[in-house]
Amino acid sequence: HRILILGAGGREHALAWKLSRSDLVERIYVAPGNGGTARETKTTNVALPEGDFQAAVQFALAEKITLVLPGPEQPLVDGVETYFRKVGIPVFGPTALAARMEGSKVFAKQFMERHSIPTAAFRSFSASEYAQAVEYVKTCGFKVVLKASGLAGGKGVLIPETTEEAISGLQEIMVDNVFGAAGSEVVIEELLSGPEISVLAFSDGYTVTPLPAAQDHKRIGEGDTGLNTGGMGAYAPAPIATPEIMQRVMKETLQRTITGMRREGFPFVGMLFTGFMLTPNGPKVLEYNVRFGDPETEALMLLLSDDTDLASILLACVDRRLDAVQIDVRAGSAVSVILASQGYPGSYTKGHRIVVDELPPNVVAFHAGTKLSGEDTVTSGGRCWLSPLSFEGKTFRRDIGRRALHPEPV
Ligand code: ATP
Repeated sequence: HRILILGAGGREHALAWKLSRSDLVERIYVAPGNGGTARETKTTNVALPEGDFQAAVQFALAEKITLVLPGPEQPLVDGVETYFRKVGIPVFGPTALAARMEGSKVFAKQFMERHSIPTAAFRSFSASEYAQAVEYVKTCGFKVVLKASGLAGGKGVLIPETTEEAISGLQEIMVDNVFGAAGSEVVIEELLSGPEISVLAFSDGYTVTPLPAAQDHKRIGEGDTGLNTGGMGAYAPAPIATPEIMQRVMKETLQRTITGMRREGFPFVGMLFTGFMLTPNGPKVLEYNVRFGDPETEALMLLLSDDTDLASILLACVDRRLDAVQIDVRAGSAVSVILASQGYPGSYTKGHRIVVDELPPNVVAFHAGTKLSGEDTVTSGGRCWLSPLSFEGKTFRRDIGRRALHPEPV
């Protein structure tokens, strides 16, 4: 097979790394890729204009691509799947209709309501309903979370402390449009509490097969302090996701979601990544994502056994025969730690040379925000990578996976 991966992050590097180990895979192109994918065996970076799906299709036809794997959500929500489907190239990823589960929080919440999938109580409001939204936060009787409905790069969620703060948050989203068009609808939901887990599950539209639950670490500082980031690390399996919890996750959420989507006419093929809060009343859905998570994927690709062939899983999903596929995970656990540039998630300098010493046997360096500069690899973004690697301003957390040892109470 000849695979085209869209994206540039650590997630895409980890996917390329695992796919390159498959006998089924002859060649992998990553558009645009990064300094790490540039060096992976079987892998070539390709510069395609971002968001130009027609150009991507032309490239895929010319290079006889047999499977497309979009990394981030934006191309999926923008309907990249249709472009390839029209020319007969399968995509591991949902149609635009199915991608609404991530692209519109209002849509996802209403879907969950229709299918009795456990989630926080909520109401949704359009931009013209500001007065009603204000009235709702005044009278709903619980602490609220405000969410811009559309894609906001993981930043569209506000957790106000007081009703006054909630009202000014609504003003920001609905009147001042701080999240742009993503805030043209808003979800106001009940504040839940409890530990969070991420469950990444493969689906062919019928069968849904979860990987072990992961926990990510969003804050920049150790002990979960400081600003939110794109994620400073993740680990799996999360012991808090006991077999009983995972059974409930499967029965009450994953199966209902996949069956419900198919019955409503937009079957889900791809990676369904569901964020849960483990509340005293059971696991409740915080959000759906319709693609692999970052940094969860970096850990999960290492957790898959050497014999588990990622390409055969992805192909089984697009061929609707996931039920026939065995997915084995290693005993033990996997941890991904992000090495960020100093200053991240604020401003930082770029172009620092990365020095790599020999990596220990069980460590893999996945790149994000790096590029090749001659023979050197240099930092080109905020979130870089780990370990016997050094560069000026290297910043990372030493407590990724801490919650495996000190779980929060449910
Ligand atoms: P991301 O893409 O970064 O994961 P997002 O912007 O899509 O996030 P959500 O995952 O819905 O938004 O929410 C982000 C975070 O806000 C959650 O990980 C959780 O910590 C918190 N959160 C969301 N909804 C609730 C809720 N109902 N109760 C308590 N906390 C919540």
